[in-house]
Amino acid sequence: MRFFSYKRQNKIITDIEITPLTTEGHILSIDVEEWYHNCHERRYIYPQTRPKSIKEELDWTIPFLLEKLEEGKIKATFFILGEIAEKKPYLVREIFGAGHEIACHGLLHYRLKWENVDKFKKDIEKAKKILEDIIGEKIYGFRAPEWSLRSFNSVYLEAIVQAGFYYDSSLVKVPLAGSIFNLSVPHTISTLRWQIIEIPPSVIGPFSIASGWKLRKLTLAEILKLRKRNYLHITIHPWEVIPRPINDLSTIAQLFANPGLENFYYTKNFIFSLRWNTILKSISKGVLE
Ligand SMILES: [Zn+2]
Repeated sequence: MRFFSYKRQNKIITDIEITPLTTEGHILSIDVEEWYHNCHERRYIYPQTRPKSIKEELDWTIPFLLEKLEEGKIKATFFILGEIAEKKPYLVREIFGAGHEIACHGLLHYRLKWENVDKFKKDIEKAKKILEDIIGEKIYGFRAPEWSLRSFNSVYLEAIVQAGFYYDSSLVKVPLAGSIFNLSVPHTISTLRWQIIEIPPSVIGPFSIASGWKLRKLTLAEILKLRKRNYLHITIHPWEVIPRPINDLSTIAQLFANPGLENFYYTKNFIFSLRWNTILKSISKGVLE
């Protein structure tokens, strides 16, 4: 158990308590977004500024991924963007119908700090309802676009709790994408007012293996070695299954999107031959009730 203090509106607040949580199995999560949902390319994030003719790929990358998961008898957690669920509810139904966990990746793929906390809360409540109406079941999990929750003392975390989520999966223990003060293993974050479970992505040293390129560069031997840890949580994206460079992005956006992309599909097929768990199933049942 660790206690933290932090500053809000110039007051020192010392009520955050972090408690490690035991989970079962290694976790595979998939962020359901298009290639253009890249926070370094803001004109593509908001539908008003996105070109109407922009190419979409999810109608075939999702069925392709579902087939690979079915072949490997794997169940994963899919963090789905609300705007995609609204436009393509049939994809949510297909994923849910195949036995995977449906979770929420926000309404639009914006960095949290681009919107104030009230707008953010309204947006994730809307996204959660869109997903729940489609599957007819409760949504438990949330992940911030681009891991942009950043830190466990963010005011946005309280908004995630208030919107009705039981767990969050946004806090990465690396600088910039998250914070070195975050934890790289599952834990509970409690304050005097609220509590939430945090299921973070795994890291190797200063690198997240959830943000794409680091995972895309890993070999089978390296992945097997990581699986000797008690906890391994990797994340992939539907756009990564296509072996090509993504050219229609700014230079900085390409720096994050393209490394390792040319051969990810061909060389990382082994991911689908290993055993993985959904986040919900990895959390012991009593904890969520
Ligand atoms: Zn994302």
